[in-house]
Order: sequence, then C-alpha cells, then structure tokens
Amino acid sequence: MKALSVLGSTGSIGTQTLEIVEEFPERFKVVALTAGNNLDLLVEQIVRHQPEAVALAQPEKLAELRERLEALEPALRPAQLPELLGGSDGLCAAAAWSSADLVVSGIVGCAGLLPTLAAIEAGKDIALANKETLIAAGPVVLPALEASGSRLLPADSEHSALFQCLQGTPWADTARLSTGVPTPGLRRIQLTASGGAFRDWPAADLAKATVADATSHPNWSMGRKITVDSATLMNKGLEVIEAHYLFGLDYDHIEIVIHPQSIIHSMVELADSSVLAQLGWPDMKLPILYCLSWPERLPTPWRRLDLTAVGQLTFRAPDRDKYPCMELAYAAGRAGGTMPAALNAANEQAVALFLEERIPFLAIPRLIERVCDRHRADLTTSPSLADVLAVDAWARQAVLEAAAALQAATPAALPA
Ligand code: NAD
Ligand code: MG
Repeated sequence: MKALSVLGSTGSIGTQTLEIVEEFPERFKVVALTAGNNLDLLVEQIVRHQPEAVALAQPEKLAELRERLEALEPALRPAQLPELLGGSDGLCAAAAWSSADLVVSGIVGCAGLLPTLAAIEAGKDIALANKETLIAAGPVVLPALEASGSRLLPADSEHSALFQCLQGTPWADTARLSTGVPTPGLRRIQLTASGGAFRDWPAADLAKATVADATSHPNWSMGRKITVDSATLMNKGLEVIEAHYLFGLDYDHIEIVIHPQSIIHSMVELADSSVLAQLGWPDMKLPILYCLSWPERLPTPWRRLDLTAVGQLTFRAPDRDKYPCMELAYAAGRAGGTMPAALNAANEQAVALFLEERIPFLAIPRLIERVCDRHRADLTTSPSLADVLAVDAWARQAVLEAAAALQAATPAALPA
C-alpha cells in the first residue's frame, strides 16, 4: 500500500489522482491533501479519503473548513478529523507528512515550489506535474534531490513518455531519476505538441483571441493556466526546460514537433539512431498512474488505443513566428541560472492578467520578452533558493509595471 500526499487535490491533476486512488484502493491511499480555495470539493475529498492531514493555502479559511467538517452528519464525518494546517508552512508540512511515501505535486505555478522542495528534503518520491517548480528552481531542486535521494517521477505526459521510453536503456539501470546528469545513450528528445487552441488560426487573427478562445483546448481538459500556456505554446517551451533538467540533454538536442492528434506523447532518439515513442489516448490518468505504480504496470480497464480509429498520425514543424513564447523559453533555458525563473514568473503574471481580461493575448509574449531582457544584466548563474524567490517576485512586479506602461502607450490595445 503506497501512501500519498496530494498537493493541489482540487485541481485537474489532483482530482484525477484521487480517481486513480479510488480505482486501486488496495494499492494506494491518501494521507494528506492540500488545496487552494475550493472548500466544497475539498470537504467531499476529506469524507471519501479520510486523510491524516489537510492544508489550505489561505490560513484564514481554516476555521470555515473546521466548521464544515464538524457540521457533517455523523455518517459522513471522519472518525477522526484530519490535522488542519494553513499557509505556506502548512502546505510544506502536508508535503513532508511522515506517513507519505509519494507526493503528487499538482499545485499550479511557482506556488508549488516550497511544498515540493519540502517533500524532496523529507526524502519523499515525487510525482511531478508542477513543472514550474523545476523550471524556476532547477539549480536548487537537482542538488536537493541528490542530497536526499528522493526520486522525481515525471507526471507531465511528454516527460512520462520519455521516461517510459528510457526504461530498458542504461539510464534506467543507473536509477538516477532526474539528477540533471546526461542520460547515457540518449541523443535527442522530440516533444510532441498538440498545437493548442489556435493551431488552425491564421497568425493575423490572434490579436483578437479572447479568454474563452484560449481556454478551450482541442485535446486535453486541464486547468486554465496550462490551457492558456498551450495556446501560446509556452507550455511546450516550459517543457523543453523541464526536459533539460530531467534528462540532462542540452537545448540543441531537445526539439518540438506539432502532432495534432496527441497520440504519440513524445519520442527519444538513442545513440544507434533508433527512435522510441510512447502512444496512448490523450488522458493524464495514464502518466499519473505510471508515477504511482512505477516500476510496476497495473492492469486497467481504460479505453485501449485503436490506431485504425485514429486513422492518421500527422506531424509538422512549429511556426516560430506565430508562437514567440517557444523561442523565449529556449533562450531563457540556454541563458540558465535565474533566467528560467524570470521567464516562468513573467509568464504566470502575464497569463493571470490575460485571464482577468486586462491585456490582450498577444501582449503575453511581449511582456515576457521585456522582463527577460531586463533580467539579463542581473542574472545569477548558480542561484540559491532565496535568489530564485527574489527573481520570481521581481519578475511578477516587472510584468505589472510593463503592462501599465504598455497600457499608457496604447490604451486601445489593452483594455482596462
Ligand atoms: P488546476 O488549476 O486545475 O489546479 C491547481 C491546484 O493548485 C488546485 O487544487 C488549486 O487549489 C491549487 N492552488 C492554486 N494556487 C495555489 C496556491 N497559491 N497555493 C496552493 N495551492 C494552490 O491546475 P492543473 O491543470 O491541475 O495543473 C497543476 C500542475 O500540473 C501545473 O503545474 C500544470 O502545468 C501541471 N500539468 C497539468 C496537466 C493537466 O492535465 N491538468 C498536465 C500536465 C502538467
Ligand atoms: Mg505536457
């Protein structure tokens, strides 16, 4: 029985993780949950999974959570109320919860960094969905993994595909999961991308893309932030940096290919030129399950892949002019040090402004570019955690300032 701490349990990754736990009650149980602010769903999850600990990002909501749990009718009330924790320290305590074997890192954004690091420092294995943690703080996370011996198992579908393809290579035998050491025999990575919401839009139409347009993904159902990242292709850019830290390849050997059907989840090319791919329907439960069951494979009744029903698998090169975020991410990855932290925070802030309808879609890459340009002179090559957090806070503020400046210069282009 593997005991899980699920960070971000009310989100897309969190709820799918809990569905898996319910499908395999003899294999997995939940000992800790953390959530942002969806108390209705959280209470339901507590009733079903009876965790030992629950943490809320906002400590001021703890009293309401306690009241709701105490007000449950006796048949639903857990025999023992979970320990209720709040704020950043509470999230970190739930992430490092002593009875947890594996921590599902499913918080969105850099807010996941400190809890994920707490789990690593406590020696827990990590199912990493929260890519922002590794992108912002790769130079801090990799040594922490090395020091604690905790293993970083990729839950992102592309990186899970790469991880699955690398089983059976010398890399798997080294059991060096994600220490940034180049993977022996691995020559090239090809990350597949669906192309996001605007893959069939002419570039000229992107200027009028709305929030509703950008948050309807053709193939995957995910949280709002990552769905916008898919529409800008920043998600794929972030995944390039994620792959660099996970598998140790330099950026010249990590490529992006548009594959609209999302059936091939990514590919590795090995030293002898053999290319291995992992295939499946676009369903995040598979990569999440593999993190939970690794190195075992558990039998599931899930829909099996039928390539004759798919018909065609097609591929094309990404349009770099239409999607400037990809190039920004490659440039930030190559610059290294704190630059990916600046890129990631600028992206989070710009996407938040877009989702609040305060900037147009095309302002997202413009704002990120400005912030990365400004950060170049202050880049720290071997940052500490404090350096990363300082750059993260600075970049968010810099986006707000740049957005205000853009708005003053072109008020029509930037609705208030
Ligand atoms: P989501 O928005 O659906 O869920 C986010 C979760 O984090 C929620 O439980 C929310 O309450 C919590 N949260 C939000 N802000 C928080 C804060 N400041 N402090 C603490 N908790 C907070 O997001 P998601 O789509 O599940 O994505 C989660 C992570 O997984 C992201 O990093 C995303 O890039 C990655 N990911 C998601 C998918 C997917 O299919 N959804 C696929 C690959 C990778
Ligand atoms: Mg992905």
